[in-house]
Amino acid sequence: MQKQCPLCNSLQSIRFICPVCGERLLDGGKIEDYLDAYGPYFESVTDTNDHNGHCTHLLYCKHCGYDERRDIETIEL
Ligand SMILES: [Zn+2]
Ligand SMILES: [Zn+2]
Repeated sequence: MQKQCPLCNSLQSIRFICPVCGERLLDGGKIEDYLDAYGPYFESVTDTNDHNGHCTHLLYCKHCGYDERRDIETIEL
């Protein structure tokens, strides 16, 4: 049974709140998509998707510029 990330598959919207200003965080996409930007430091997370039961996303706040990486639990479809 393959588990899928609900955010990657548009099954779920983000309900996390910015700890700085209280606005809703937006999904910046899978962290893998940012590897080029962050450089080799993040090479170790290339294997996150579906293997460890979570998919790491970059969440950001459009309002204040806050961002964080968040592990999204994958679910069986
Ligand atoms: Zn995902
Ligand atoms: Zn904010």
